[in-house]
Formats: sequence, C-alpha cells, structure tokens
Amino acid sequence: MKIALLSGKGGTGKTFVSVNMAFVAEKAMYIDCDVEEPNGHLFLKPQIEAVEEVKVAMPKIDHEKCTGCRKCVEFCRFNALAYVNNAVKVFEDVCHSCGGCMLVCPENAIVEKDKTIGKIEKGRSGEVSVKTGILNMGEASGVPIVKQLIENVSIEEALSIIDAPPGSACIVMEAIKDVDYCVLVAEPTIFGTQNLSMVHELVKLFDIPYGVVLNKCLDDENPAEKYCEENEIHVIGKVMYSHDLALLSSQGEIVSRVDSSYYAKFKTMLERIFEEVHHGTTSRA
Ligand code: SF4
Ligand code: SF4
Repeated sequence: MKIALLSGKGGTGKTFVSVNMAFVAEKAMYIDCDVEEPNGHLFLKPQIEAVEEVKVAMPKIDHEKCTGCRKCVEFCRFNALAYVNNAVKVFEDVCHSCGGCMLVCPENAIVEKDKTIGKIEKGRSGEVSVKTGILNMGEASGVPIVKQLIENVSIEEALSIIDAPPGSACIVMEAIKDVDYCVLVAEPTIFGTQNLSMVHELVKLFDIPYGVVLNKCLDDENPAEKYCEENEIHVIGKVMYSHDLALLSSQGEIVSRVDSSYYAKFKTMLERIFEEVHHGTTSRA
C-alpha cells in the first residue's frame, strides 16, 4: 500500500507524521519527496547504502551544423531557446527536456547531453528503508527526482510512506498520482484551514481516498476541524501541541520511539487507514 502525506504549506508537521507512521509500521519504506528541503532523514538517521544521481536530457547545439533557421526557437513553448549574437542559446533552467527542438531541427544540429539535477540517497533505519530525494541548489524543477523516487515503490516494500512536497503544484501531483491513500496534515488556524482546503481540492481532483490528521491542536476552537466536519472528511488522528513534543522534534527524535502513548496514537492512525482502504469507507470526492 502507498500512503502519501500532504500539507498546503511547509511547517504543518507533515514530516513529523510521516516519520512516526513509518516508525510504528515497523516494516516500511519512507520516501522523502520534499526534494527542496528533505528532512525526514534528520529523524530516521538512515545508514546510507547507495546514492543515485538524477539526470535530465538537455539540448546541445552543434554550432558548425546550425544554419540559424530558428525553427527550434519558434518551437520551444518554454522560451528555453533564443537566437542571440548569431547563435542559438539554451537556457537550461527553463528547459523541460521535452526533446522537441531536436526533432524539429532540419540540420540535425541539436543533440542531447545529460545534466545532473540532484540525487537520491538510499539507506536503512532499523526496519524502515529510506529514500531521500535531493534537488541541487538553483535547479528549477524537482519533478524528475520525484518520478525516479516513486518508480517501482509498490514492488519494493509492502507499505510505502510518501512524504510529499508542500503545496499543490505539479511536483505534488507527481508524488501522489499513484497512491492508495492521502493523509492531509492540517494546523488549527484560519491560514492552516485555507491550506487544508487547497490540498483537499487536489485529492478530490485525483479521486484518491483521504483523511486528515489535525496537528498542533490546542484546546481552543479548531477551524481545520470545523472544515472537516462541514466537508464530511474523516479525521484519522489528532495530535495536541505540547512543548515537550516540540522539543523532542527539534532534537531530531522520533516521538513514537521515546513515548509509548505516541507510538499507540500513530499505530491507531495507520490501522485506521488500512481499515478504511480495505473496507472502502474513506472520504472521497
Ligand atoms: S528540450 Fe523542449 S523545453 Fe528544452 S529547449 Fe528543447 S524544445 Fe525547449
Ligand atoms: S532548428 Fe537547428 S538549424 Fe535551425 S536554428 Fe535551431 S539548431 Fe540551428
């Protein structure tokens, strides 16, 4: 089974919930798709066993063959090519590696070269396999890293926990497109509720079963909980804010490892997800 954890913005506790779920699952794969700022490894502290580079294809112009017809420039809808000073220039930061310019060039003056945009670290933390995607600084899109991260996950482990990037952009869609269940992690504020509604719209669009974990709850009124009630969304778990919990997290501890009440809480959340998926009783669009 593949479970993805989402949040409308960073800092809601998506990684906190993900690593705890992976830890209590006992045997699972944790996949950090938050490639711009992966931090699950800070808690799981895996022994790194392998590192894979992630490469994309970039056009390279053979200026000897190029006649300056500009067909490639006209074709590129991402404005990644320009004809300046009598030569075609490639802006690699905005190139989407579609390969189209190569196809339209009548002189075969465009070839592809590899460009490394980041890496994937693979390791183990006890019974949890850990895969971490890391996008190189300055690279525009981590989508190819997410694609490579989630390739073959279902056959590698029985349970995969995907820590998706924050927000609802195309990189998030890439991370969740093939999962069995989405957990939306929400904070108890108006802003947190707006972010929750953003990812709620996304999972409805994808028609993926989902539930909510209300994080950092206080005893006050919780607009995110109210949103769940109004929209008939299952709340699969609630974590109260506590100073001790924040301190443990800031020290890179997995709270379920050091406190049995949290172990039981996250175990219950995971069991609830299994039950909902197997009995088809999940929230759906
Ligand atoms: S590969 Fe695609 S996106 Fe990149 S420069 Fe060529 S046409 Fe543009
Ligand atoms: S399409 Fe080919 S020949 Fe024409 S400008 Fe581009 S690289 Fe040069």
